[in-house]
Amino acid sequence: MSGALDVAAVRARFPALADPAHVALDNAATTHRPQAVIDTLVRFCIATNANVHRATHRRAREATEAYEGARRRVARFLGAERDEVVFTRNATDAINLAARSYVEPRVGPGDAIVVTALEHHSNLVPWQQVCRRTGARLEALPVDGRGCLEIPETWPTGARFLAATRVSNALGTVVDTGALVASAHAAGLAVLLDVTQAAGHLPLDEGSRQADFLALSAHKMYGPMGLGVLRGRREHLEAMEPVVFGGEMVDRVSDRQATWQVPPLRFEAGTPPVAEAVAFVPALDLIEELGAESIRAHELVLLERLLGGIASIEGLELVGPATAPERSGSVALSLADAHAASVVLDISGIAVRAGVHCAEPLHAALGLGPTLRASVAVYNTTADIDRLLDALPEAVAAGR
Ligand SMILES: *Cc1c(COP(=O)(O)O)cnc(C)c1O
Repeated sequence: MSGALDVAAVRARFPALADPAHVALDNAATTHRPQAVIDTLVRFCIATNANVHRATHRRAREATEAYEGARRRVARFLGAERDEVVFTRNATDAINLAARSYVEPRVGPGDAIVVTALEHHSNLVPWQQVCRRTGARLEALPVDGRGCLEIPETWPTGARFLAATRVSNALGTVVDTGALVASAHAAGLAVLLDVTQAAGHLPLDEGSRQADFLALSAHKMYGPMGLGVLRGRREHLEAMEPVVFGGEMVDRVSDRQATWQVPPLRFEAGTPPVAEAVAFVPALDLIEELGAESIRAHELVLLERLLGGIASIEGLELVGPATAPERSGSVALSLADAHAASVVLDISGIAVRAGVHCAEPLHAALGLGPTLRASVAVYNTTADIDRLLDALPEAVAAGR
């Protein structure tokens, strides 16, 4: 599809939006799922429901084919090879896998792991732990007062690895990951990009194509909860030892020892989220059918309307970059009592989020308290934005 999105047609595919009282503006926390995803989950449970890679009966063969088909579909979406796609529980799990299996054995005292000040706790705490265990140093690239990152020209001494977000879940900052990854690679760093807030909202960028690892969660891109992806370059995955052990990931097992499967199965110990992986396929189909460019354009229209409306409401302080292209469709507003404001909005059926959005160090760095965050998805309408804008003055009064 080209040009403007037919939002009404998109909405009709999401049964959770049939409730006219519900204004879904907490999409950075999780998105709703289209009927096709729900149908695929249900159909798998009824018609297939077998474990993968084990038995040879018909349903087991079908389950394995569908699961491996989902892996190929994710690979195509990310411009990767099928054996570069590891299924995990979520983005957090994917980042932990890269941290434990790739980075931890490769760093020590004198080395530095670099993050940015924008990171979600999921892309910060695992690196803190690697540093604790190895004696490596953690360095955070600072942001300016608007929450924008400057691409470093020189990297910290001993820098070996960069873990950075493409889009901040807390502020909506879009990082120029193309320039960031190029600079990091030129300095010899390997890079993980957290694309959890980008995949499904922005076109896949050059930085994401070049990065050594990508992490994402299906549930933030219209897919099921309980499924994440670590995309790793084949040469890295092949060099990585597993960190979780058990069934599925082994090749040969004797009393005393075992050998491992090749990647990606090496990193998928135990029964994987098969139904969730299979049901992720129609979510990716939807994103590609609508087109990432059209989705981004639609979300920008909503963003501009929201920013325009906020500007004329007294007492509201917008945090983060002023506007696109440095901004996603997530908008954070600084309020003394953001929680009270979110409660008022909830009474009008408007789902937003208040808090520090799993980014406490970022809030501390900017001297920010909790914020009220509204975040859009492809199915939001200008009417959703207007309902939020109508309800905001009262919410702001409650949150002052
Ligand atoms: C939500 C989020 C995560 C963590 O995703 P989970 O599904 O909770 O594992 C990591 N990074 C960013 C930027 C996020 O928005």
